[in-house]
Amino acid sequence: MQASDPIDRRKLAALRTREDDAFRARIPASLGWLARARTSMPNGVPMAWMVSLFRHTVVASHGEGAGFRDIDGNYYCDFNVSDLAMTMGYGNKAIAAAVARAADKGTHFMMPVEDTLAVTEELARRVGLPCWQFTLSASGANTEVMRLARFVTGRTKILVFDGQYHGHIDESLVTPGDHGAIPVQLGTSARIALDTVIVPFNDLAAAEAALKANDIALVITEPALTNCLLVEAAPGFLGGLHDLAQKYGALFCLDEAHTFQFAYGGLTRAGNLASDFVTVGKGLGSGVSFALYGMSRAMADAMEKYRDCDIGPRGLATGGTTYGSTIAVATARAALDEVLTPEGYDRITGLGTRLADGLDAAIQRRHLPWRAFRRGPRSGLCLSPDLPRNAAEAAFSMDADFIDARRVYMANRGQWDAVFSAGPQASFAHNAAEIDRYVEIVDAFLGEVLR
Ligand code: PMP
Repeated sequence: MQASDPIDRRKLAALRTREDDAFRARIPASLGWLARARTSMPNGVPMAWMVSLFRHTVVASHGEGAGFRDIDGNYYCDFNVSDLAMTMGYGNKAIAAAVARAADKGTHFMMPVEDTLAVTEELARRVGLPCWQFTLSASGANTEVMRLARFVTGRTKILVFDGQYHGHIDESLVTPGDHGAIPVQLGTSARIALDTVIVPFNDLAAAEAALKANDIALVITEPALTNCLLVEAAPGFLGGLHDLAQKYGALFCLDEAHTFQFAYGGLTRAGNLASDFVTVGKGLGSGVSFALYGMSRAMADAMEKYRDCDIGPRGLATGGTTYGSTIAVATARAALDEVLTPEGYDRITGLGTRLADGLDAAIQRRHLPWRAFRRGPRSGLCLSPDLPRNAAEAAFSMDADFIDARRVYMANRGQWDAVFSAGPQASFAHNAAEIDRYVEIVDAFLGEVLR
């Protein structure tokens, strides 16, 4: 909290109580459903953590465009878009038609289909890495990248950056401890956590000090950290990292599970970034579960040499029964051809700029020492005058009381706001009026909770 905190914490707490009560009154059907659901699902939800991530969980009924309704009939314009997995919008016609066609033909063959090549060739063209593999999630893609890197380098350790999230993987569900990385959640292996080295983002000297031990197989990072609000890479940081990885015999992965939505071809293309691997997923799948990772020819050669097969030499541990299904391929193709177009990206960048401009205007009107995050479609409130350079600085803006109170205030006014660690994001389905309405309500919220 700042010395002169502009937020009146008593007003904030009172607003939270009032808004929580109002919200509960709006969702009787959801509350009844969730109570019943606890008999067949822990916490009454399909993934037990959902209740803490979305403190105000509702049961969704149907979506259209940029918003969805719950089973009580309440409408929410969605600025979280399923943590960026639904950036195509709800019920996108091109995606729906592609999924329907694939379902009609046969959802899966455990073989390639003709369209598979259209997807991998297009990703190669956009991102610049020649070869691609399908998985079921970005977590799965990053897991396979780690395995391939370990195999190719003959090393075990992974270098990550504080504030990272790369998925549901023991190696990356870690946080700095007194004697190395420790699990950040329950149920993961403390022994595996020790295979991970964590250094601050934007600190090349710290990365080099870690790499000098010559035991790092893989350096993995998002091109901009998106899971502790937004931390941009300083000029030269990502290029420097790639060079350091090469110098010390490690491989380098850019995880674009989120940032592929920030620019055409992802931030890899926008920043002309070099890497050995790139992960894409989430929004590309539009809610259909799949992801891909791209790799250099040298990595593909290693993969080809050591095939995973039932007979012959032991192969690399990759793949699974339902990977690369007809539905996944059809969804990816429709997304790339019909939604993730240069014009589509221009449009959502315009909407993201409008969102950031609107938040900045509200900040200035109220003379706050804050500023808006802005990166393509993504924005949010940075509660300090300077943008964070690493997770420690970003933590200042991750004000749980402020964010949680805002979320329920927004929900009561038809806006589904971003989760705690993210910021609002315009999807390909939003329009300018919806962005303006969101900003208007944030402004009203500020009016209620500031000193
Ligand atoms: N990488 C990044 C950067 C992510 O933000 C996430 C999810 N938030 C993942 C990987 C994992 O994605 P998934 O949940 O689809 O496995």
